[in-house]
Amino acid sequence: MARKILVLAETREQVLRNVSYEVIAAGKEISEGGEVVSVLIGENISSLASELIHYGADRVVTVEDAKLSTYTPDGYAQALLATIKEENPEAIIIGHTALGKDLSPKIAAKLQLGLISDVTAIEITGGNVIFSRPIYSGKAFEKQIITDGLIFATIRPNNINPLRKDDTRTGETHSLSVEIKDLRTIVKEVVRKATEGVDLSEAKVIIAGGRGVKSEEGFEPLKELAHVLGGAVGASRGACDANYCDYSLQIGQTGKVVTPDLYIACGISGAIQHLAGMSNSKVIVAINKDPEANIFNVADYGIVGDLFEVVPLLTEEIKAL
Ligand code: FAD
Repeated sequence: MARKILVLAETREQVLRNVSYEVIAAGKEISEGGEVVSVLIGENISSLASELIHYGADRVVTVEDAKLSTYTPDGYAQALLATIKEENPEAIIIGHTALGKDLSPKIAAKLQLGLISDVTAIEITGGNVIFSRPIYSGKAFEKQIITDGLIFATIRPNNINPLRKDDTRTGETHSLSVEIKDLRTIVKEVVRKATEGVDLSEAKVIIAGGRGVKSEEGFEPLKELAHVLGGAVGASRGACDANYCDYSLQIGQTGKVVTPDLYIACGISGAIQHLAGMSNSKVIVAINKDPEANIFNVADYGIVGDLFEVVPLLTEEIKAL
């Protein structure tokens, strides 16, 4: 059953975020040979449309306005609702990002739709689109379908692989004029926290430190390993609470949810609240001096040892490759 799917592209400072390509891949699967239309909202972003087409979008709708240069709930909701009205899709897919988590309930409420959030897998059986999503902090998964109205879901980032880029693909881009008005909140200023290296939420490799790292300086060997692997540094809440690092690095139930290709947990015990944020990583390596640590129950590879010996050794070995 061919469907028309609307997917939301996300940008930051006029650069497309990876999730923009992941929602296209999810849309393709659900469309069953139908059409995937990518919506691009912002200011001066129309030049990005061809990139979305190269990653599999059949068509792109742009909504441009100076008031959309940064995300505001009202502005984006007005732009997306106008696009939904114009395109009349059978499904809407948005990334389960900070933006998507804020925007999707507003759209669902406005259109009286059901919403399935934080989807990690999609299957199509007997004409039904079945979405899997984690529950109880990732201890179990449930499968949901939408029985009435539009299919509306948010997709966990770094979980569905983008399609292979094809620079020869072509598709139509259409600019939709939407009057953006009555914004109840506007962004006056963005004060960026100094973060080094790769963005944690999009990193393919994460080296995470826990209370076992023991101090702010204890993070240095982890940073070096992250550097040689082109990855990002993350942390448990234990490490953040102990002031070894900033809370922006926290991974887990009350931190970021990450699904990198490689997650190296150093001196992290593996509390359920931490696992909720990283247990879907593709390969997990745990380094812990306690052989009974719970982190080994989710690890693909475990190293029982002192992280201050193991991490520098790993870095040296990888540098020598
Ligand atoms: P610990 O549990 O103290 O573990 C430290 C580990 O380091 C131990 O296993 C030890 O064997 C090992 N170690 C020590 N020295 C070395 C060494 N030299 N080499 C190797 N290993 C060593 N936690 C999160 O992480 N993220 C969350 O989002 C989160 N949300 C929470 C929400 C709620 C409502 C609650 C109640 C808790 C939450 N927590 C969260 C906290 C969580 O329960 C744990 O307390 C926390 O994850 C523990 O952090 P840790 O593993 O770094 O520390």
